[in-house]
Amino acid sequence: MTDDPRRLVPRTDALLAEPPVAAAALRLGRDLVKAAVQAAQQRVRDGELPPDGVVDAVLASLPQRPSSLRPVLNATGVVVHTNLGRAPLSAAAVEAVVAAAGTTDVELDLATGRRGPRGEGALAAVREAVPAAEAALVVNNCAAALALVATALGQGRELVLARGELVEIGDGFRIPDLLVATGARLREVGTTNRVTLDDYRDALHEETGAVLKVHPSNFVVRGFTRAVPVAELAVALAGSGVPLVADIGSGLLRPHPALPDEPDLQTTLTAGADLVLASGDKLLGGPQAGLVLGRADLVKRLRRHPLYRAFRVDKTTLAALEATLRGPQPPVLRMLAADAAGLRARAEALAARLAAEGVDAAAVASGARVGGGGAPEQPLPSAALALPATFAEPLRLGTPPVVGYLADDRTLLDLRSLPPSDDDALAAAVLDVARRCT
Ligand SMILES: *Cc1c(COP(=O)(O)O)cnc(C)c1O
Repeated sequence: MTDDPRRLVPRTDALLAEPPVAAAALRLGRDLVKAAVQAAQQRVRDGELPPDGVVDAVLASLPQRPSSLRPVLNATGVVVHTNLGRAPLSAAAVEAVVAAAGTTDVELDLATGRRGPRGEGALAAVREAVPAAEAALVVNNCAAALALVATALGQGRELVLARGELVEIGDGFRIPDLLVATGARLREVGTTNRVTLDDYRDALHEETGAVLKVHPSNFVVRGFTRAVPVAELAVALAGSGVPLVADIGSGLLRPHPALPDEPDLQTTLTAGADLVLASGDKLLGGPQAGLVLGRADLVKRLRRHPLYRAFRVDKTTLAALEATLRGPQPPVLRMLAADAAGLRARAEALAARLAAEGVDAAAVASGARVGGGGAPEQPLPSAALALPATFAEPLRLGTPPVVGYLADDRTLLDLRSLPPSDDDALAAAVLDVARRCT
């Protein structure tokens, strides 16, 4: 039976030794490549594939990259898009992550050969970026910072919080639920729209663990409203021994001219907060992280708490954070700073380029947003490339995927959330869709 297809199936070890297959095994892992080889061999046995097509079939079936996460072009106009990974890292931060990814001196003092303070460079960069902070701590995210603070200061005690600041951040994450889950009791003060200094004063007693202020980062309350600023609360709490903790959310280091209502780390500490908490991957523009800045004795208490170990960050996060703070302006801040005329010029150049290839494309004015729980009402004038509505899905499914949005029966690709260096890739992706789908 010389025509038995099983005799013609190339052997597994011979296939794995083929140079391109061996190279793929080094890059992607032997098990994955072997499974692809076996699947291709089966196709030969089933008569679906000629024996000399096995190597090509194996290579074609392998994933392009070692992880399922794919780089995406963010044309949503939402600068900090949580579903797209929030802040894109700066080139400096990416370089730092790659350098730290292997074996690194994250916790070893090379001068003495002894154990050193973990992530000292990143902590020093945080303190330098926010001079009002006596001390700093970095944890996994702002939620972890809240959990650590609530546990260390509030467990078995009361945390005082205004009713208007019982915030849901997104995807069902509710700050009051997190606080209560730590074993702290919540003492809600004021009403949905109004809270006064006396409301806070009346709530204090010997079981008060801390007074917490949470920035309502994704909504605004308008009309008959009143809140108590950090500075007033700080004066009222002075000498009481009750720490004032402010969760500002988005992590601006200093006031931002384009975002007048967004709190920042330096100003909040100067106003008298004992601790300030913020995310690393929103307007700070860095990796996912939670920053805790403020009084040295409180930061020390948090660092000594057993739960800190469960929240501490990886070497690559420390590397990215330090490079974000010390390096060039991160992409998020450059996107915020982009002027509308420049965005319009980019949209017009792209539209002209695509129209010349026969694509139904136009430059239009659009409205971008900060996103990621920051400056919810702050309009960011922007410009977009308008395409037929039918382009949205194939653009999202292309390589690289392009995510825009639909408005007025058009697909809009907003340019504020996309670095200018990606304009060529965007044009290529649109042309590809035009060729495939029209
Ligand atoms: C976004 C946000 C958080 C949660 O931050 P993560 O870093 O995503 O954990 C907490 N508090 C406020 C006010 C926020 O805006």
